[in-house]
Amino acid sequence: MNVPKHWRAIPERYRMEAGKCRKCGEISFPSRLICPACNHNEFDLVNLSGKGKLLTHTIIRTAPEGFGDFAPYAVGIVELEEGVRIMGQITDCDPEKLKTGDKLTSKFRRMNEEGKTGMIMYSYKFVPDIGI
Ligand SMILES: [Zn+2]
Repeated sequence: MNVPKHWRAIPERYRMEAGKCRKCGEISFPSRLICPACNHNEFDLVNLSGKGKLLTHTIIRTAPEGFGDFAPYAVGIVELEEGVRIMGQITDCDPEKLKTGDKLTSKFRRMNEEGKTGMIMYSYKFVPDIGI
């Protein structure tokens, strides 16, 4: 990801800002221009709790460039308390011991280093509530 794109993504990545439809209350993350549930186009910004449960996950053993020092690591789909499903890296745990239904909380962590520039990117990752 290049630097301007990274900066544009900051509200979403750093504060977990989502759009809540003013008509039907559907929460979209990232926020959208049109509500997928009712096609309305006005939203209020809400901050997601970052708390949720693991729906499914996989373990990455051969990491892409820039993620090598994290492998092996788990990537999973987490259903947040608000009903939003988001994909993210799961950290601070033994990935082999993760299981469906585990409770997780998002944390702000270093993501990867940007190729040649060495710029370090930060974003959210998920951490199991019970350390494993
Ligand atoms: Zn709606």
